[in-house]
Amino acid sequence: MELNRPLEVDEIARASNLDRCTGCHRCTRVCPASEHGGVVPHQVVAETQEGTVDLSQDSMIWKCLMCNICSHVCPVRINPSYLITLLRNASAERGHAPKRYMEARSMVRSSGRSFPNTRLTSKMRGELGLPPLNDDQEAVDELLMLWSTTPMGDDGDE
Ligand code: SF4
Ligand code: SF4
Repeated sequence: MELNRPLEVDEIARASNLDRCTGCHRCTRVCPASEHGGVVPHQVVAETQEGTVDLSQDSMIWKCLMCNICSHVCPVRINPSYLITLLRNASAERGHAPKRYMEARSMVRSSGRSFPNTRLTSKMRGELGLPPLNDDQEAVDELLMLWSTTPMGDDGDE
């Protein structure tokens, strides 16, 4: 299988053994996000199987807390949280992830960090007796080289 391209939904469905799902809804009954209008894991499983799952930035897949509880209770060992990770990857690789994720991605690409290095960062580090945070261009170059081997590596920075 080619690795340097986004996975299709049917490939994700096959790799996740979704045909085992019995529709028992145990995953959803324990899901803390589902209780509050977030992701509904059994629905994600069903829609992925049907090929109708939403990969847009407004999709419920972005409302998962990644707590993994659903995967622990599934009686047929489907792993809904990992499924959601694969779907998020497929969404992000097509440029559809929510803005906050795309901004973090741009930051990682430019600095190697997922958080901004602000004056507050410097102040807090100073208070903890830590040295200033400097960019490590060698580390960033290595990261970009690794990044170039993934489906997100050749689409430029926004
Ligand atoms: S990993 Fe996501 S889908 Fe699963 S129980 Fe936690 S919030 Fe719900
Ligand atoms: S717990 Fe497993 S079998 Fe039951 S609905 Fe969820 S994914 Fe399907």
